Amino acid sequence: MGFVKASPEAQLRLLELADLDTELARLDHRRRTLPEHAELEQLNARAARARDALVAAETELSDLSREQERAERDVEQVRTRIDKDQARLDGGAVSSARELESLQSEVVSLKRRQGDLEEVVLELMERLEGATARRDATAAEQGSVSAEASAVTARRDAALAEITEAAAKASDARAGVIAGVPADLLALYDKVRAAAGGVGAAMLRRGRCEGCRESLSMAELSEIRAAAPDEVIRHEECRRILVRTSESGL
Ligand SMILES: [Zn+2]
Repeated sequence: MGFVKASPEAQLRLLELADLDTELARLDHRRRTLPEHAELEQLNARAARARDALVAAETELSDLSREQERAERDVEQVRTRIDKDQARLDGGAVSSARELESLQSEVVSLKRRQGDLEEVVLELMERLEGATARRDATAAEQGSVSAEASAVTARRDAALAEITEAAAKASDARAGVIAGVPADLLALYDKVRAAAGGVGAAMLRRGRCEGCRESLSMAELSEIRAAAPDEVIRHEECRRILVRTSESGL
């Protein structure tokens, strides 16, 4: 590609363009790194954990309820048998001493069994209480996660809308600036910008490149001093287009 020439005015427009591109890059970076993105990710993870915990707590609750019903039924059966045996004992229909003795010992062992089963029922009630508390705590956690997520989402959306508006403004301004830049100069700027990581042109200010912050050597400065105003100069060091202004210190 041949050497690009452009009027000093057109070259100055590159500085406006570079400012706008910097602003657009900043906005893009901000859009991608909003703290709300990370917050929402954490909230989603918390919501997933709460969902799992809720399923576990509800499963435990229904298992325990079933166990409790079974234990209560067992208690009831034992009680019925005790009542029946007792009625036979009290009714006086059993006259054989051996039969009486065996009935009495059955009642004793049934009562022991009843006591054991009632203890099981009590223990199950306690476990049910614990599981209910865990289920309620998990449901409350789900509610608070969902409320927090709504608030963070609203904050993120407001920030994104603000960024989008600022980016649209900068893009409009960029289109206006580009209209005043010759095509070959713009092509050079874009090529440099792609290679130099975002900023394609920089001001030469007091002998220093504002793009890479390096000071130019005396030899480089005298070469630039000797160049015609419409010659487009590049900084050897960072390859950016160096734009001369009254502040260049030439
Ligand atoms: Zn430079």
